[in-house]
Amino acid sequence: MAERITDATGLAETHPVNRPLADPALAACPGCDLVQRVREELEPGASARCPRCNTELRRGRKDSMRRTLALTIAAAVLYIITNTTPMLGLQVVGRESFTTVMGGALQLWKDGQEIVAVLVFFAVVLAPALQIGFLLLVILGCSAKRPGAWVGILLRYHPFTQTWSMIEVMLIGVLVALTKIAELAHVIPGEALFCVGGLVILLAAMQSNFDPEEVWRRVQWVSPEAQPSPGNLPAERTAR
Ligand SMILES: [Zn+2]
Repeated sequence: MAERITDATGLAETHPVNRPLADPALAACPGCDLVQRVREELEPGASARCPRCNTELRRGRKDSMRRTLALTIAAAVLYIITNTTPMLGLQVVGRESFTTVMGGALQLWKDGQEIVAVLVFFAVVLAPALQIGFLLLVILGCSAKRPGAWVGILLRYHPFTQTWSMIEVMLIGVLVALTKIAELAHVIPGEALFCVGGLVILLAAMQSNFDPEEVWRRVQWVSPEAQPSPGNLPAERTAR
């Protein structure tokens, strides 16, 4: 039978067999798992690196939340325009035909390329939407006095959406295809094509300004009494 951990933090009720170390300065290196103390506030531009494997542990960012929020809203607007306006038009012998990003994926499906169509839809339409949506919800959730546990869950899955968001790959593919088609037909670039270019830059800026550590510090992921404070630190810390 598992031994119950008992303490005065109230955590024993929700986590009967485990509890976090109530020291926000402690961080495990994502590269080699070395646990170390890192200063919570770093000067903008400064970074803390693991002494064992040189992985970056924390980077100081100025006004991270507000900047990321502004960039995320801008990215959301560009994303909507990208997916609702034509991306490319072709003009052959007097006939014009335009297509959107979704239209491209649908055409691939109709042409019998179902797997490619699903991949294109996932990497170019769904993953960027989730990447922008998750980040927007995380930042808005953090503006609450006590952010809920759902903020932590969304933040945990955010890197997955970031990995699969491949708008820049589509942009390179479209530009390569354009140079090849240009000899056969007159190509008309649509508004969405320029928006995709802007979106690639905005997504990169959004991610580089975002500081997940700041979110984790604000998330109320356990009972309110469990927040580290001089009054409820575990015995091993308060004794020192
Ligand atoms: Zn390390």
